[in-house]
Amino acid sequence: MITVERAKRVVLENSSGLTQGAESLPLTSSLGRIVSKDIKSPCAIPHFSNSAMDGYALRHRDTKGASLERQKVFNVIESVPAGSVPKKKVGRNEAIRIMTGAPMPLGADAVVIVEQTREAKSERRKAKSEEFMRTFKELKRWENVRRAGEDIRKGEVVLRKGTLIRSQELMMLAALGMSSLKVTRRPRVAILATGDELIEVKSKLAPGKIRNSNSYGLYGSVLSAGGEPIILGIARDNSASLLRAFKDALRRKIDILLVVGGISVGDYDIVKDLLKQIGTKMLFWKVAMRPGKPLAFGMIGKVLVFGLPGNPVSSTMAFEQFVRPALQKMLGYIGPAHFVREAYFEENFEKRKGFRYFVRVKLRNEDGKFFARLSGPQGSAMLKSMAHCDGVMVLPEGIAKVSRGDKVNVQLLN
Ligand code: AMP
Ligand code: MG
Repeated sequence: MITVERAKRVVLENSSGLTQGAESLPLTSSLGRIVSKDIKSPCAIPHFSNSAMDGYALRHRDTKGASLERQKVFNVIESVPAGSVPKKKVGRNEAIRIMTGAPMPLGADAVVIVEQTREAKSERRKAKSEEFMRTFKELKRWENVRRAGEDIRKGEVVLRKGTLIRSQELMMLAALGMSSLKVTRRPRVAILATGDELIEVKSKLAPGKIRNSNSYGLYGSVLSAGGEPIILGIARDNSASLLRAFKDALRRKIDILLVVGGISVGDYDIVKDLLKQIGTKMLFWKVAMRPGKPLAFGMIGKVLVFGLPGNPVSSTMAFEQFVRPALQKMLGYIGPAHFVREAYFEENFEKRKGFRYFVRVKLRNEDGKFFARLSGPQGSAMLKSMAHCDGVMVLPEGIAKVSRGDKVNVQLLN
C-alpha cells in the first residue's frame, strides 16, 4: 500500500503532455480547452484613445481654477458619436461633444462628463449661431480618457500556454480579432464497467442486479477534466469478456483506460491479473486512502491504465485524486486540479490513522466564513450524499479525528 502523495507522483511522472497534438479551433469551440502555446496580442487595446464617458473633450489646462463660482466657458465646435472620427482639432477654450467610445480629437487631453457641464446660453446669444458650454470642474490630464494600449500592448503575451479558455478569455480573444486559436488535443478516455450484477440504465431491475452508475459519473468527470470520454459498456466477470473489452478499448486510440470494479480481493476480482496478462506494467495497487483504497495503476505502452474501485464513491474519489491530475498534466493545464476552501467543521468525525480520508460535506457561508457538515452517511456505495455534497473534506493521514470547530480543507468538486 502506498500513500496518496507517492501514488500521485507515480501517476504524474507517467502522464506526458499532448501539446504536440495541438489543434486549431474556431473561437467558440475553444471554450473549456487549454491554450497550447503563448498567445501574443496582434494589436493594442484600446486600439485608439477614446472617451470613457459621454461629455466634452477639451484641453485639461483650460479648466484650471474652475469652480462653481468661477465657471469656464468653452466653444463647442463639433459632436462625435461612437464609430465616427472627429474632423476638427481642439484649440484653446474649445470643446468637442463626445460619446463613450468615440475617438479623442487631436489637441484634447481630457473629457468633462455631461453631468458636470451646463449649456452657456448667454454666450450663445452673443455669438449668435454657435454653441457654448460651461463647466465648474477642474480636470486632470487624461481624466475620463481610455488611452491607446493602456489595457493591452501590441505584442504582449495575453494568455500563457496552459491557460484554460473560459468566457472571459473568449471575450478578450474576440476583441483581439482572433477568430481561431491553437489548443491542446483532448485526451481520449475509455470507460469500462465490469460486473455480472450490472445492467444498463434503461434496463428493468431484476433480482441481484443494479444499474451501471459508475460509467455515467465518470463520463461527467472526464468531460469536466477536459478529456473525451468513451463509454465502452459493461464487461462480465470472466476472462473472455474482459479480454475482449480490453482489446476493443485499445483499438480506439485511447490515452487512458479506466476499468471500474473487479480490482479488489473478491473471488471475481480478476481485472488486475488480466491487465498484466495483456502486457500492462503495474506500477501500484492499493493506496492509503478512504474511500478509494483498492486502486491499481499501470501502463500499456503509452496508455495509462487505472483499475478503479467499483463502489461509486470510491471510483469518484480515485478519479479526483489521480485521474483528473493526470488528464490536466496531459492537457498541459497550469492551474490547480481543485480549488480548496478553508472551513470550520460543525460535527465530530473519527477516522483511522494512516489513511487520508475524503469526506463528503456540504458548505454553508455565514458572514464570509464557511462551515462544513457531512452531506449524509459516508458509506462508499452511498450515492445521495455524493450527489448532495459541495466538496470533500480532506483529512490527513496523521490524525484520528476532527471535532466541532476545527478548521478543515475542503476540495471543491465541480
Ligand atoms: P467490485 O470491486 O467489482 O466488487 O465492486 C464493488 C462494489 O461496487 C459492488 O457492490 C459492485 O456492485 C459495485 N459496482 C461495481 N461496478 C459498478 C458500476 N459500474 N456501477 C455501480 N456500482 C458498481
Ligand atoms: Mg465486480
